[in-house]
Amino acid sequence: MTLENIIELDKKYYMNTFGGRTKVCFERGEGIYLYDVSGKKYVDFFSGIAVNSLGHCHPKVVNAVCEQVKKLMHCSNLYYIKNQALLAQMICKNSVCDRVFFTNSGAEANEGAIKLARAYFKKKGMPQKYEFVCLDKSFHGRTLTTATATGQDKYKEPYTPLTPGFKHVPINDMEALENAVNENTCAILLEVVQGESGVHPITKEYAQFARELCDKHGIFLIIDEVQTGIGRTGKLFAYETVGIEPDIFTLAKALGNGFPIGAICAKEEAAKGFQPGDHGTTFGGNPLACAAALASLSTIIEEDMPRKAEEMGKYLRDKIEGLNLDCISEIRNVGLMFAIEFKEPIAADVKNKMFEKGYLIGSVGANALRILPPLIITESDVDGFVDTLYNVLN
Ligand SMILES: *Cc1c(COP(=O)(O)O)cnc(C)c1O
Repeated sequence: MTLENIIELDKKYYMNTFGGRTKVCFERGEGIYLYDVSGKKYVDFFSGIAVNSLGHCHPKVVNAVCEQVKKLMHCSNLYYIKNQALLAQMICKNSVCDRVFFTNSGAEANEGAIKLARAYFKKKGMPQKYEFVCLDKSFHGRTLTTATATGQDKYKEPYTPLTPGFKHVPINDMEALENAVNENTCAILLEVVQGESGVHPITKEYAQFARELCDKHGIFLIIDEVQTGIGRTGKLFAYETVGIEPDIFTLAKALGNGFPIGAICAKEEAAKGFQPGDHGTTFGGNPLACAAALASLSTIIEEDMPRKAEEMGKYLRDKIEGLNLDCISEIRNVGLMFAIEFKEPIAADVKNKMFEKGYLIGSVGANALRILPPLIITESDVDGFVDTLYNVLN
């Protein structure tokens, strides 16, 4: 089947939510490389949007998935599931949470976290506490409620009326945050580094202020770690980079290194919000997804990938800065989450030229590139990327 045949079928039968996609179809991957249906090789500096942190088809993940497929893919949550119990333990032992619930995506994890916070206060006899304070330019997913939580109008316009109870305030504005919290608030929900809108980190001071504000009001701090989690920011979880502990945090993207799985992670007190019957899922936490995540997470931890993300992040940043290019106005990064901001609206052009040269990256808005390489990249991978970027920008 040629690429043209595939595009034809897509045009005819697929719901057009992704618009004009990049004209390529990948057939296989290995490490940081992808190969398209004609055999052309690409270097992946976007990781399927922060998913394939261990690169494509990591042997440990492939092996775990293949072995589990042969044994059991699915069984209902009416029964005990070994991999689910082991994965929940692994997440709790390596984070500040005490309990975990598994989902199939990031949006589902955030939706569940929002339900958990609301259910908690309702059970405490405070049903008026159902409001959330979120940040402008945030991204929390595409379900109706997580789109409502998202601080970008473009994702909500077709869907009004939205879920009630969501307020948005500008990032790193402590006064605005304090003013937005009132007796009806049940939680502050935020990303430590806003990924989708272009790598905008909150400051340590702001994170600590948010934590103190939540403590003062007896409400929850929910951190969306769907993109930042599992090592990308230089720590296993991004909340560690700003020195705070959330009451609830969510995971997805890199958790299964490409196999769909998400998680709602909560401290013991917050986890009390869910009692038997309050929440559920058919597929979430199935033996196969948990096998993929067990292999991914254990490899990330054993191979000290967060430290590598930190080191390679520094190396990549130094390299780009070393180019001394006039067209770049700002580089933003936390670990291996990068945005390169240009003075002119050339981002789409640069992205396309990089694609022609075999590099996959993203863009955000007209002026910025977004780069999310696998955490396994080496200095020579970075050198190759930066050389190519330099050529394109010249
Ligand atoms: C990608 C993302 C989501 C949504 O995850 P899906 O798996 O696409 O539902 C939520 N929050 C953040 C911060 C994300 O980056």
